[in-house]
Amino acid sequence: MTSKQGLLLVISGCAGTGKGTVIAALQSAYPDDFAYSVSATTRPPRPGEVDHTHYHFLTREAFEDAILHAQMLEYTEYCGNLYGTPKSELIKTESGRHLILEIEVEGARNIKRLYPDAVSVFIAPPDPLTLEKRLRGRGTNTDEDIRNRMRTARAELASIADYDYVVVNEDDGAEEAAMQIMRILRAEQSRTARCAALIADLTAT
Ligand code: 5GP
Repeated sequence: MTSKQGLLLVISGCAGTGKGTVIAALQSAYPDDFAYSVSATTRPPRPGEVDHTHYHFLTREAFEDAILHAQMLEYTEYCGNLYGTPKSELIKTESGRHLILEIEVEGARNIKRLYPDAVSVFIAPPDPLTLEKRLRGRGTNTDEDIRNRMRTARAELASIADYDYVVVNEDDGAEEAAMQIMRILRAEQSRTARCAALIADLTAT
């Protein structure tokens, strides 16, 4: 028997790691085990993005108002836009499901500081060449664009050691990466430190 409490699962990864595909694979393989924390952002929606499903799309004024009223668990400015986790998203852990927070490295650091029990995973490409190929594969980018994206990616990769786990997403490897994350969570739930009630029960007589 393991603890039934859902965990806070922080997932980061630079552009080109396929983080979104891995998260989708995780949710599709284990639909009852995960809830998704919908972040707030001031960036405009991309085609196909739905308000309150992909993000809570806010004006900068509304976002700053939420900060002022202490409604954000963490927030950061990224590429000129504000991104943050509303405190209200935490209610989703009460269902016993793991709560996925898909956030960048500074947010991940802040969540680990607030919740040392959170499990943080960095989704990484298998090697720098594959990363560059994936970034180029995204279409109409100039060479300068690619160089900038590689520079940003390298800065994000430099923070990998701050995470509890690194999971490599090979080409066409999203399902395997998702299974690896599930194995990590199951092991985390079996940590003795998380099973205090079970241990107390077993040692009560
Ligand atoms: P995008 O604009 O591509 O959806 O997201 C840009 C970056 O913001 C990604 O690295 C994403 O993980 C991060 N991000 C999304 N939501 C949050 C959040 O609530 N907090 C933080 N700190 N980062 C976020």
